[in-house]
Amino acid sequence: MTIKTIGVIGAGTMGNGVAALAAVSSFDVLLHDICPETLKATMHTIKGDFRQRVAEGRLSSIEATEALARIHPRHDFDDLQDADFVIEAAVEKLDVKQGILKRLDQIVAPHVILATSTSSLSITAIASATDTPESVVGMHFVNLPLGNALVEIVRGKLTSDNAVKTAYDLVINFQKIPILCNDTPGFIVNRIMRLFFGEALRLFDEGSATVAEIDRIVRLEGGFPMGPFELLDSIGIDTDLEVTAILYDRFKRDARFAPHPFQQKMTESGTVGKKTTRGFYTYKSKSAS
Ligand code: NAD
Repeated sequence: MTIKTIGVIGAGTMGNGVAALAAVSSFDVLLHDICPETLKATMHTIKGDFRQRVAEGRLSSIEATEALARIHPRHDFDDLQDADFVIEAAVEKLDVKQGILKRLDQIVAPHVILATSTSSLSITAIASATDTPESVVGMHFVNLPLGNALVEIVRGKLTSDNAVKTAYDLVINFQKIPILCNDTPGFIVNRIMRLFFGEALRLFDEGSATVAEIDRIVRLEGGFPMGPFELLDSIGIDTDLEVTAILYDRFKRDARFAPHPFQQKMTESGTVGKKTTRGFYTYKSKSAS
């Protein structure tokens, strides 16, 4: 079946990136968030990001205008019934994701595939809340979706071949590279990233080097586009803490996956990275630009 309209639920860090990617790839987007202020702020953020891409010569101004016009903010959840494919990008909580997928399952057409962008939860567990677990697939984008090449496609226990193929083809349509993997905790990227972030946080906490020095060496010597702290700020330290805590639990409290107290402190103080303008670094407020 042809996909024309993609529903995106959750308009935070990941939802806004997925909506932007889908719109730039010529899909219409129905973007929903439970919080109306977030929805409004996200449209502003996407507009700013498109403007920056135009300034950098990565998008023409016509393409940016057309892509922005394809993103339709929707306050009413039921409006998602018109979507041909849905990507859930709400907070990393099992009950929230199950609630959203259960509701979606009741309103979308029977053939519509429901993808979840979870980083650490079981696709099988999320799908179990629906009457059609075969239609549920994991689609794990790497932040930021527009700039990153890879998307993990995760097959839950009951996910159908059709759901996997539909998600796979969509990723190709987004001009990204799909990576197939099973429903193992953290899939590939997040499992490896726990050790990357954990070690960087321990180095910093021991006073071995500054945040900027650790980031610099990882970029220069490791060839990474961002250092661990730049990446944590971009992901959202709160979201990353949630992911770490879930994986720690799913790996039976294996010390390699333990959340670092520093992440906890920063989350509690609301200095969680770019989205709050303060994290390991300080950023200009989007609304001030
Ligand atoms: P976020 O906190 O930035 O945004 C989450 C959004 O979900 C918020 O705007 C919130 O209002 C909304 N929300 C909460 N409950 C909702 C509901 N019932 N209905 C609709 N919207 C609801 O979080 P994020 O970083 O965008 O993460 C979202 C998902 O994407 C998570 O599953 C996360 O693991 C995954 N993910 C995030 C990243 C990243 O770099 N941030 C990378 C890969 C995957």
